[in-house]
Amino acid sequence: MCAKPSRRFARNWQNWSGSVQSTPREIVTPRSLDELAQRIGAYGRDSRRVRVVGGGHSFTPLVQTNDVLLSLDGLQGIQEVNGQRGTVKVWGGTRLKRLGNDLLALGRAQENLGDIDVQSIAGAISTGTHGTGVRFGNIATQVVGLTLVTATGDIAECSSDQHPDLFKAAQVSLGALGVIASVTLRTVPAKRLRFQVRRERVDSCLANLERYKQENDHFEFFWLPYTPWAQAKFLNETDAPAKDGNLWGTFNKIVLENGVYWVLSEACRLAPPLTQTVSKISAQAISSSTETDYSHRLYATPRMVRFREMEYNIPAEHFTTVLAEIRECIQQRQFKVHFPIECRFAHADDIWLSPAYQRPSSYIAVHMYRGMAYEDYFAAIEAIFRRYQGRPHWGKMHTRTADELAALYPRWDDFCQVRATLDPQGIFLNDYLRHLFAVDAPHAQHSAAFPSPHNAS
Ligand SMILES: Cc1cc2nc3c(=O)[nH]c(=O)nc-3n(C[C@H](O)[C@H](O)[C@H](O)COP(=O)(O)OP(=O)(O)OC[C@H]3O[C@@H](n4cnc5c(N)ncnc54)[C@H](O)[C@@H]3O)c2cc1C
Repeated sequence: MCAKPSRRFARNWQNWSGSVQSTPREIVTPRSLDELAQRIGAYGRDSRRVRVVGGGHSFTPLVQTNDVLLSLDGLQGIQEVNGQRGTVKVWGGTRLKRLGNDLLALGRAQENLGDIDVQSIAGAISTGTHGTGVRFGNIATQVVGLTLVTATGDIAECSSDQHPDLFKAAQVSLGALGVIASVTLRTVPAKRLRFQVRRERVDSCLANLERYKQENDHFEFFWLPYTPWAQAKFLNETDAPAKDGNLWGTFNKIVLENGVYWVLSEACRLAPPLTQTVSKISAQAISSSTETDYSHRLYATPRMVRFREMEYNIPAEHFTTVLAEIRECIQQRQFKVHFPIECRFAHADDIWLSPAYQRPSSYIAVHMYRGMAYEDYFAAIEAIFRRYQGRPHWGKMHTRTADELAALYPRWDDFCQVRATLDPQGIFLNDYLRHLFAVDAPHAQHSAAFPSPHNAS
C-alpha cells in the first residue's frame, strides 16, 4: 500500500439512489492498516462517531453520519494468496469488479455474486448481499476469516477456529462491530458460464420452479406487473470459450435495459397512469439471448436507472404463496409501478444476522423508480412479507423494529451482546443503527414508517 496521507475534508455525501444524504464533518481514507487502527483508536478516545462506507449502494441509512465517514477506497486489492487452500486475503475496500478481474488473473473466481459489481467486498458481506442459486449461500458464506479494527483501535482476527462467535457475528454485521480491514475468501477455479435469458409466462416459471432451481446453477426471474410475463434468467457452467465483444449483448444492456428504460421510467414519473402500459411494453420487449463469459462478468449488469428497493428473504416453502399474494395485491390496489418484481433463491447458512440463517431461502424484491411514490406500495408488500416470517435485506428499505427483528433472528441477542462488548460507547452507531438495535440515545428519533431523506448522526 502506498503511504500517501489520507484525504480529509467535509462535503456532502449521498447513497446511490439519492435517498440518503449526509454532511460528514470529516471524510477519511486510510492508506494502511496501521493508520486505520490509529485513527479508530483516537476516535474512540475522543468519543467521536464513525460510519464506514463501501460503495454507498445501500438504500437504508446505514452509513449516514454527521461526524466521521470512513472509506476504505485506499485499501483495495489482493493481499495474500493461499494456493493450497484456494483462499485469498483481500483488503475490505476492494470493489467486486476489481476483485473479479484480479481473481481471474490467478485462475480463480468467487463462486457466486449479486447483480452488480460496484460494491466493496466488506460492504457487500456486511448487509448479506446475495446472488441466486440454491447450491450457493450469500457472499458472506464465502468468507473464511476477517480482520476487524475494533472501537479501541485493536486489531482482531477471527475465523471458525479463532474467536468463532465473533466470526459468526462479524460476517454480516452492518458496520456495527468495527471496521473490516481484510476479508479472507474461499474461491473456486475460474469458470465460464452460459447465460440464457428469455421471456416466459410467470405461471410457467412457477410450474417449473423446483426443476429450474435444481437443474440450473443460477436461476432467477423478474415478473412484469400487470402482465402474465416474466424475464427468466439461467446461468450454467460451460466449457465453451468466452466470447469477447458481444455487441448485441452490450447494446441490449446499455441502450435497451438502461437508456430506453430510463426514458420510459421518466414518462411514468411524469404521468404515473402510464405504468401499466410501460410494464406491458417492457414485457413485449424481452428478447431471448445467450452469452458465454467468465462468471464475474455475467453475474453483474449495469444499473443506470435509479430506483428505491425493498427486498425480503422468505422461507423457500412460502415463495409461491407470497408471490401469488403480491400479484393479487398489485392488481387489487392498482399501484402505479412498472419495475419488475425480482425473485431469487439461496441455501441456508449459519451466520447470525444473515437473512438466510438456518433456512433454505427465496428472495423477493420490489422496486420503484426514483421520484415516484413508493410508500403505500412498499408498505402493502411488506405487510405480506411480515406474514411469512420475512427477514429484510439489511441494505434495502424496510420498517422493522428491534423487537420484531429479535423474534426473527435466533442469535439476535448474542449479536447485540457482542456489539455492546466490543463498542460499549457506540462509536460505530448512528441514529438508524441505535434504533435498529434498540440502543438508548437521547436524541434518536425514528418512526416505523418508510423514512424520508434527512440528515442525522
Ligand atoms: C443497483 C443496486 C443493485 C443491487 N444488487 C444487489 C444484489 O444483486 N443482491 C443483493 O443482495 N444486494 C444488492 N444490492 C444491495 C447492495 O449489495 C448492498 O446494499 C451492499 O451492502 C452495498 O455494498 P457497498 O459496498 O455499497 O456498501 P455500503 O452501502 O457503502 O455499506 C453497507 C454496509 O456495510 C458497512 N461497511 C462497508 N464497508 C465496511 C467495512 N470495511 N467494515 C465494516 N463495515 C463496512 C457499512 O457501514 C454499511 O453498514 C444492490 C444495490 C443497488 C443500489
